[in-house]
Amino acid sequence: MNRCPEVGDIILQAFIARRQLLRESGSFTGIRVIGSRYSHDTFRIRDFLARNRSLFTFLDLESHPEVGELLGRFGLSVQDTPVVAWGKQVVLRNPSNREIAEALGIRRPLEQTVYDLAIVGAGPGGLAASVYGASEGLSTVVLERTAPGGQAGTSMRIENYLGFPTGITGGDLAERAIVQANKFGAILSVATPVVSLTFDNAYSVLALESGESIVAKCLLIATGAEYRRLDVDGCARFEGSGVYYAATPNEVQLCQGAEVVIVGGGNAAGQAAVYLSRHARRVYLLIRGNDLYKSMSAYLAHRIEQTPNIEVLLNTTVRRMSGDGRLASVEIVNSETGETRTLETPAVFSFIGATPHTDWLPVEIERDEKRFVRTGPAMAQSAHWTARRQPFLLETSRPGVFAAGDVRSGSVKRVASAVGEGAMAVQFVHEYLKEK
Ligand SMILES: Cc1cc2nc3c(=O)[nH]c(=O)nc-3n(C[C@H](O)[C@H](O)[C@H](O)COP(=O)(O)OP(=O)(O)OC[C@H]3O[C@@H](n4cnc5c(N)ncnc54)[C@H](O)[C@@H]3O)c2cc1C
Repeated sequence: MNRCPEVGDIILQAFIARRQLLRESGSFTGIRVIGSRYSHDTFRIRDFLARNRSLFTFLDLESHPEVGELLGRFGLSVQDTPVVAWGKQVVLRNPSNREIAEALGIRRPLEQTVYDLAIVGAGPGGLAASVYGASEGLSTVVLERTAPGGQAGTSMRIENYLGFPTGITGGDLAERAIVQANKFGAILSVATPVVSLTFDNAYSVLALESGESIVAKCLLIATGAEYRRLDVDGCARFEGSGVYYAATPNEVQLCQGAEVVIVGGGNAAGQAAVYLSRHARRVYLLIRGNDLYKSMSAYLAHRIEQTPNIEVLLNTTVRRMSGDGRLASVEIVNSETGETRTLETPAVFSFIGATPHTDWLPVEIERDEKRFVRTGPAMAQSAHWTARRQPFLLETSRPGVFAAGDVRSGSVKRVASAVGEGAMAVQFVHEYLKEK
């Protein structure tokens, strides 16, 4: 497609239009997921498919009477659920994300070669680097743990990214970037978590969870960050069945017409509140501090104040979660007055303090006190810096290893800056390779 752009463009447009038609037809079944809406594994599978933008139909054991008969046709019973079925060719019982990715062909076979550039993480930063790297002739591989798009992929409306005056969903943005990266020949493999990094002379060696390894001349760390787990009594029990870290159509189905609770005072919490207010009866937005405008963009805080079914509770935190098998209520407390209150709710959405994905990195890659990766000229002072030159702007304490986006110490936590840094990092990769 790259070599013959005229034909390539026609094929690309036809595929994009076909997919859009299928999605909008309302009658396309695609992959079937059969399971209970209260099961953790059913949620995991739906979440994985949704985040990877696979068209699927969910058949809920709790509300679809025909499910038993359908399972019978596959020779299965309710005990085998969750089941993922694609026609009769693919029938998987409680598959892992990796098994699903392999069946869908989105976990790519990886060559035993030395890549020019390996990128870990396919959020906006990693995707931007993959587009620039591949389009500029570097052999580029992108290894993604869950789904391309990263944190941005879970946003239902990004309004401050240049060029989209009426906003764009993170999913749409990611989808466009994936097509672009593929078009230029980047190899993007999902359900491919990297578990450790070592070095073989000047090369980076990435160990994958599957036991395979990838070797590259240059490495870009673009593993971003994720919201911290709520440190609340009972929380762990309800993750995936009442406690969520994203507010997308997948989660919305579970809280139609109900009262829901959102914890956090940043833009992610604000966006989730506005989005959920269109589906839930009432949204409680719990903020630990006493000012809605402190960490949230003014346009968003203003919108929240104007939405009648969002109630902002300042100086408030969650103390306890309760329910029998699934979340039923949360106890909240006001830190100023000490007053407690119980809210009946099937869903709590948490967007508090992001922590970086850097546990897989070795000591050679210096991190700050909050575990974000340090980069730039100051790295020349590091005991691990081995080159005679000054480090490039996005270079870590190890020559040839770069970091971009939210994972980088001191970065601006925004889509545009992650994209910009991903693109910039490729420029430094060229410089590094030229020097070698
Ligand atoms: C709900 C929400 C709404 C937001 N809205 C906006 C907005 O409106 N405007 C804005 O500018 N910003 C917004 N942000 C912030 C923005 O999304 C982030 O700043 C941006 O996504 C950072 O991009 P990144 O590529 O650095 O990292 P991330 O988006 O965090 O992506 C990192 C990727 O790395 C993967 N990964 C992690 N560890 C590994 C590993 N070991 N192996 C392989 N892969 C791994 C992760 O699965 C993830 O896909 C929002 C964030 C959230 C959560």
